[in-house]
Amino acid sequence: MYEREREDLVRKLESNGITDKAVLKALSEVERHLFVPEIMISHAYKDVALPIGYGQTISQPYTVAFMTQALRLKTGSKVLEIGTGSGYQAAILHRMGMRVYTIERNAEISLRTQKLFDKLGVRAVCRIGDGTIGWSEFAPYDGIIVTAGSPVVPLNLKKQLEVGGRLVIPVGDKKSQTLKIITKTGEESFETEEVPKFAFVPLIGREGWNEK
Ligand code: SAH
Repeated sequence: MYEREREDLVRKLESNGITDKAVLKALSEVERHLFVPEIMISHAYKDVALPIGYGQTISQPYTVAFMTQALRLKTGSKVLEIGTGSGYQAAILHRMGMRVYTIERNAEISLRTQKLFDKLGVRAVCRIGDGTIGWSEFAPYDGIIVTAGSPVVPLNLKKQLEVGGRLVIPVGDKKSQTLKIITKTGEESFETEEVPKFAFVPLIGREGWNEK
């Protein structure tokens, strides 16, 4: 269902500068309408973020595509996602052949998404907890993607990155963030590229924003 809508969306992403063929292919295959609440289905293939309940959102397709492209992962890479949410971003990474680990702080959102993953056959290892401390058990990761806006770059995430790997994280105030694309060039060295003007829900945790 909705193949035509997905094709139109992918063409739009291409015209907006997404060039990575594997990313575009995954977006043309993963059924975004299955990751949004039923009343939002008619909006599923618009290039906008949508509410998923609990004050959270499913990211805009352009943002998902841009961040995934920025990770520059090879098939089979190990990726950590912070902010499972609807599961759409994790499903894209899984479709691209990545080994996906994903953390969500809201237990109800995580459990609901884990059920959806089971139903759709999306293999992603899920954890309920504070992603700002990372997931040391499976580190190092070839890529880490943070899908909520943070006031700082959490130290543990830089530590848990493989040398040569990338951390993609929106950093700024609660209204607007700059996307940081951080490449780990050595055990203690990093190179950062910045892309302005993104808007994410807040990352709440020990190295993120306070709860209230
Ligand atoms: N990747 C998601 C986007 C979800 S929105 C998708 O594809 O739909 C961001 C999510 O991050 C929310 O569900 C929010 O509850 C979660 N979140 C916020 N702070 C977090 C933290 N410290 N650790 C893990 N998840 C967090």
